[in-house]
Amino acid sequence: MKKEILDKLELRQGDITRLDVDAIVNAANTKLLGGGGVDGAIHRAAGPQLLDECRTIGGCPTGEARITGGYNLLARHVIHAVGPVYSGKPQDSRLLTGCYLNSLTLAVENNLKSIAFPAISCGVYGYPIKDACKIAVDTSIDFLGRRPSLEKIIFIQFSEKDLQVYETYLNSIV
Ligand code: ADP
Repeated sequence: MKKEILDKLELRQGDITRLDVDAIVNAANTKLLGGGGVDGAIHRAAGPQLLDECRTIGGCPTGEARITGGYNLLARHVIHAVGPVYSGKPQDSRLLTGCYLNSLTLAVENNLKSIAFPAISCGVYGYPIKDACKIAVDTSIDFLGRRPSLEKIIFIQFSEKDLQVYETYLNSIV
């Protein structure tokens, strides 16, 4: 694996709402009107103007992403990606891959240099963390190979257990 690409990946544990990056990614739902988990935390930290902007978008299909301002967050933007509810069918991985790919594409189209992802779909949507981690990392590495303008991709995990899954996978591919 190319060192220039691996050096752009960073693993952290903590709260995504506190990151100073160009964009944090929200694990949103199709209505884009807020919810629980990381979605609720991001809306609380960003303030009510985020919901006002989300209302103007009119929703987002599963597997796609939309960008808004970051308002009271340190992050300049929020990219709202809608992950699949885990069903065990092949479409799950296609849709989760779409979340990462569409979020990264939006970042580059908006000249952003740094982006942070939570473990999309791995909370109430039930996606197995090991499978989701492989999709997140593989899609990001492939993307960085094609679009080198992006400088930093952070994977931020809330739990120690999820962090270890990412650590193990990243160590296995270096
Ligand atoms: P989904 O509905 O896509 O499964 P959730 O918000 O339920 O989304 O969970 C997605 C992931 O985000 C889970 O791994 C959860 O532990 C994590 N998470 C929840 N709150 C935060 C936060 N403030 N910062 C980072 N990750 C978070």
